[in-house]
Amino acid sequence: MTEGMPTTPGDEVPPATAAAIARVERFGAHNYHPLPVVVAHAAGAWVTDVEGRRYLDCLAAYSAVNFGHGNPRLLRAAREQLDRVTLTSRAFHNDRLGPFLEELAALARTDLVLPMNTGAEAVESAIKVARAWGYRVKGVPAERATIVVADGNFHGRTTTIVGFSSDPQAREGFGPFTPGFRSVPYGDAEALAAAIDATTVAVLLEPIQGEAGVVVPPAGYLPEVRRITAENDVLLVLDEIQSGLGRAGATFAADLVGVEPDLRTLGKALGGGVVPVSAVVGRADVLGVLHPGEHGSTFGGNPLAAAVGLEVVRMLQTGEWQERAARLGAHLHARLAALVGNGVVAVRGVGLWAGVDVDPALGSGRELSERLLARGVLAKDTHGSTIRLAPPLVVEESDVDLAVDALIGAIGDLASARLGSASRRHAPANG
Ligand SMILES: *Cc1c(COP(=O)(O)O)cnc(C)c1O
Repeated sequence: MTEGMPTTPGDEVPPATAAAIARVERFGAHNYHPLPVVVAHAAGAWVTDVEGRRYLDCLAAYSAVNFGHGNPRLLRAAREQLDRVTLTSRAFHNDRLGPFLEELAALARTDLVLPMNTGAEAVESAIKVARAWGYRVKGVPAERATIVVADGNFHGRTTTIVGFSSDPQAREGFGPFTPGFRSVPYGDAEALAAAIDATTVAVLLEPIQGEAGVVVPPAGYLPEVRRITAENDVLLVLDEIQSGLGRAGATFAADLVGVEPDLRTLGKALGGGVVPVSAVVGRADVLGVLHPGEHGSTFGGNPLAAAVGLEVVRMLQTGEWQERAARLGAHLHARLAALVGNGVVAVRGVGLWAGVDVDPALGSGRELSERLLARGVLAKDTHGSTIRLAPPLVVEESDVDLAVDALIGAIGDLASARLGSASRRHAPANG
């Protein structure tokens, strides 16, 4: 099998790939602009496309595939559950939910779990819980609750959530939005403190901003935010949907700075890359404010999701995945650091998670991901000239080297394409 496919401008897209893409373009809503590769199989950190070409997956479905494609342990848990019962709704109990909730609460060192499906639902749920807590426990006057968020945030795609996004593409054309949110610069504890008043029920933050380009705040930021929120009787809600469950080299990214939130949202990897599973976890005095009938989801806490989620939690209990992400991440970051000044402007991140800013003079993040695709590595741009590297935690050190070598090659490709077009522009007409 060959690695990579020709996607550089002017190259032909092979027929099976072109046909599959044309169908999606014809019948699907155009809310995505995927790279031109059509995946047919995957195992571990590697995917195979409809042409039989193999690629190293350096996106891992935005960290939903932390434990690798087709992880045998997770597939076994799913298969066993498929033959028993997959959906009951919460109108009745199912025998898988209890163990999942108990062990997830323990992993998160807290009391209660509210199971949902997608990340956006978990964030919406946390917002509802924070408001209810504000009115019922803190005593905020009815309909006045405010929540402080950070510029550059990404918490999902629902109307309430995009309403407090600072990304015009996420917002424009989708208003009017839910009131009650204040956005402040990320990483600036003073600005955050200034935005808090008597109506503030919560501060909602990503401990590391994933979609913004793996933005790691200053080391003192989260501890300072924890102090400020505690002093002002304000909940700290940490969205660890992307940063949590091993990616950052710890069970939760906030563990790296020793911060415990009041509520935490989890998702993505919680479903093991098999089913959508998300959750809000938190103390009984906060998450316990919900009463029967006030919140729910038909699929939330379903037995299939619970069986897979439980297996994910059990895999994280020993610390081996977290240690692996930290160890391979150190190698990844050591190698990436050497690229700064050589076509790369900046590298950020922690654990097996990196945001790489390519020199904008060389090309966009999109162009870089296309060059990486041609070299057999799947990665996706976030904003402008940034790409993110977040391979499944099952990668080998040699895979990490392969990804960085491909990145070096892809940057070289961009540079020679720029040089080529510049010399063509300056060449005499008959030269
Ligand atoms: C992906 C993501 C979400 C949204 O999750 P969905 O499952 O896509 O709804 C929310 N918060 C963060 C930090 C994310 O990375």
